[in-house]
Amino acid sequence: MAFLDINHLEKSFGAVHVVKDFNLAIDKGEFVSFLGPSGCGKTTVLRMVAGFETPSSGSIRINGQDVTNLRPNQRNIGMVFQAYALFPNLTVAQNIGFGLRVAGKPRAEIDDRVADMLKLIGLPGLDERYPFQLSGGQQQRVALARALAAKPRVLLLDEPLSALDAKIRVNLREEIRLIQRELGITTIFVTHDQEEALSMSDRVVVMHQGIADQVGTPFEIYNRPATRFVAQFVGTLNLIGASVIDAKAGKIKVGDVPVALNRALPITADGKVSLALRPETVSLGRHEGRNVVLSGRIAEVHFLGSVIRVRVQVGGEFVSLDTFNRPDAPPPEVGSTVQISVSERDLLTLAA
Ligand code: ATP
Repeated sequence: MAFLDINHLEKSFGAVHVVKDFNLAIDKGEFVSFLGPSGCGKTTVLRMVAGFETPSSGSIRINGQDVTNLRPNQRNIGMVFQAYALFPNLTVAQNIGFGLRVAGKPRAEIDDRVADMLKLIGLPGLDERYPFQLSGGQQQRVALARALAAKPRVLLLDEPLSALDAKIRVNLREEIRLIQRELGITTIFVTHDQEEALSMSDRVVVMHQGIADQVGTPFEIYNRPATRFVAQFVGTLNLIGASVIDAKAGKIKVGDVPVALNRALPITADGKVSLALRPETVSLGRHEGRNVVLSGRIAEVHFLGSVIRVRVQVGGEFVSLDTFNRPDAPPPEVGSTVQISVSERDLLTLAA
């Protein structure tokens, strides 16, 4: 049985249905991200798990216990928010020990725990500082320590990195994951940043208009998107129109080029399908094993450093591809005629 089990969760605010039949089973120690655009319902699900919001229907169980109707302080859950939300008039040590003090723990136990937490977050020696004397990244570490001090069963993180600078975000991302692994704490992390979700998570839930479109490992979400929304929201994607010649046998035509996909295709009213492909699966020129070859003209070249992103016009469509930067070779030139190649295995046909 899953450690955290969310069943048929629904939430409406008045007439607005913001969470629809949300189901998720999270294992003990797992790190799961909710990824989706603003307003898709991520925070609302998180707040229902925390107990700050009451579900319209459905249930939430932690370690077999039905917590759906328990108050937040009865659930033993730790939470970190986007805004640092530290008590400004309390020192770092007092902030971290706050929950333990409220719970009436003895002084010595609180002091020990605060010292352990300061070590865990890499800030020993800062215990007497006040929040205004800390950087944003340090404040979020203290918020994390405060959430973890009472040894919660579940850790909920609501966009905890979004107010921080890019570099600190990346460092803290790694630190959070290390701490989470060390403690083995079951964690839900809400973000609208796909890189954060893909790089940190055991599994990602991609949410769209209140629905979990897909639940999978970062690898599955990126390489086998279940819906067009997932494919477009996560990573860069080319969408190319194709005509279906034989849906059952998987035969299509991209422009004039016949392509055998060797898989059954959805039958569409207009005889067209959309093919999706990632820029890194397309090569400039012919390449062994990349058996679908198309001709086009380079429309744009973007030098990004380690890779060069090239946009090629193929008939009426544009295909973006990534090619590695090679300091000894001239970069591709806008206007030149090229061939591009891709393996038929990397052409995804998308539902919805
Ligand atoms: P963001 O990334 O912007 O925080 P989100 O995916 O976390 O977005 P939610 O905060 O869960 O989205 O909001 C989902 C929808 O529910 C939004 O349309 C929001 O306006 C609405 N909503 C959230 N809380 C309430 C409330 N208390 N009353 C009415 N509508 C609400």
